[in-house]
Amino acid sequence: MQKESCVFCRIARHESPATVLYEDDLVVAFEDIHPFMPVHVLVVPKQHYDGLDDDVPEQVLGRCLRVAADLAREKGLERGYRLQVNTGVDGGQTVRHLHLHVLGGGRMPSPEL
Ligand code: IMP
Repeated sequence: MQKESCVFCRIARHESPATVLYEDDLVVAFEDIHPFMPVHVLVVPKQHYDGLDDDVPEQVLGRCLRVAADLAREKGLERGYRLQVNTGVDGGQTVRHLHLHVLGGGRMPSPEL
């Protein structure tokens, strides 16, 4: 079920503006509004899940990964990229709608920094 006030649900319903790069029956991918790398794309299930701890079907998780990898290739990230899923408060998640960050276009800092 989608949520009325959720910003990513609103983008998935085309009610809020976004630079959409890809869309199918399960997911939508769009440019992050505050990119912190030269390439910063979000891949989001159209269905609302708060995060990875929800009961997210494997088909949805698999599609997110497939789309993320395809977009990384389309963006020319041959030297590599990072997929990131912030989960919960300690994970730094600020938008409570499951999303994958696709980050690249430069050397990423070590995760432990
Ligand atoms: P989180 O910290 O993993 O939850 O990441 C949320 C991301 O969503 C951040 O990188 C934000 O810049 C991004 N974001 C928040 N609102 C919007 C929006 O309306 N459009 C695109 N990206 C957004």
